[in-house]
Amino acid sequence: MTARYAYAEKMAEKLLRKYPHSKPPIDVHAVAKGERLDIEVRHDWPQGLKLHGLVQGRVIGVNGHEPWVRQRFTVAHEVGHFALGHRSDRRDVPTLDQPDVDDSPYPAHLEQEANWFANALLVPKVLLAASLLEHRTLPPLAAAFAVSQQVLTIALDRTKLLARLV
Ligand SMILES: [Zn+2]
Repeated sequence: MTARYAYAEKMAEKLLRKYPHSKPPIDVHAVAKGERLDIEVRHDWPQGLKLHGLVQGRVIGVNGHEPWVRQRFTVAHEVGHFALGHRSDRRDVPTLDQPDVDDSPYPAHLEQEANWFANALLVPKVLLAASLLEHRTLPPLAAAFAVSQQVLTIALDRTKLLARLV
């Protein structure tokens, strides 16, 4: 199975039309809540847990040991699983009270879709193009969108706006 990147982009854009932002950062927590998804930031999950987050019913569990910017990406990613209609058919899935399982509940191509969706939700092309008129280097751009520099780099590639950075 291959990831449906165009579909993920389209669904992120659809959600952004419902929650318009005239400037970054995207209030991803408000988007989640608007979609009637609750967010539980879990500080009691084991230290060193590899899992960033999970969806259980309409609750998004977020690994509270991770930095704020990473938590924002996790929320966007889990909203993606929800918005893209991903369902896990595994029995051994992480839960809010038992997050420590070996495998991701979703196959790799669905993880890629959720990551693409998260990237498109957190760094919309229109806002990125506008921000590039103001900021010419990575650190202030990433800060403006409250994402990591890695996420911003991927967004420049995703939107084909990389050439405008230099
Ligand atoms: Zn995932």
